[in-house]
Amino acid sequence: MAAETTFHLPEHMKGEADIVRCFCCDLGLAEWDAQDDPWVEHARHNCRCLFLKSEKGEDYVNEIYNPKHPVLEDKDSRLKTFAGVWRTDIEQTPEILVDAGFFYTGEEDTVRCHYCDGGLRNWEPKDIPWEEHARWFPFCKFVIKMKGREYIDEIRIKHEVFSVLKSTSSHVFF
Ligand SMILES: [Zn+2]
Ligand SMILES: [Zn+2]
Repeated sequence: MAAETTFHLPEHMKGEADIVRCFCCDLGLAEWDAQDDPWVEHARHNCRCLFLKSEKGEDYVNEIYNPKHPVLEDKDSRLKTFAGVWRTDIEQTPEILVDAGFFYTGEEDTVRCHYCDGGLRNWEPKDIPWEEHARWFPFCKFVIKMKGREYIDEIRIKHEVFSVLKSTSSHVFF
C-alpha cells in the first residue's frame, strides 16, 4: 500500500508487519490488501474519528458500507448460526432468512440483520423476511443494496394499508 498522509508509522512499530495508526483516533490497521482504500478502512473501523470527519465530511462517512457484524457478511457464516438449532416448524427457512441478511441469535425465533443489527421475532407463516426487513429497517444499506429503494417504497406503501388492520408491535424490536 502506498503511504497515506492520514497515517503515520510510530517509531516503536517500524518494521512490524504493515500496521499503521491514525494520529487522531489511534486506530491501528494491519493486513492491507492491494485494493484496500485507507479512507474506507478508516471509516469502516472508526467512523467517529474527528480527523476523518473533518477531512472527508459527514456525508462520506455516512455513505460507507459498514456492517454491524462484518464476520457474518457472507451467507455461509450466517447459515451456520441456524444449523441444527432453528425450529423446523417455522415457515421461514434458514436459507430464506440468510438470503434476506439475517442470522440467528440463538433466542427463540429471534433473528438479526448482519448489517443494521435490526431484530425480528414472532414470525407468522405469511411473513416474508425481505419484506419485514425493508418495512421495519428501511435505512439498512444491505436492503438498499440488494433490493433497491423502489422496493422499500413499495413495501412501505403496502404495509401502511395493513398496519391499520393489525398490530405487530411484538414482532419488531431494536
Ligand atoms: Zn482516525
Ligand atoms: Zn438490515
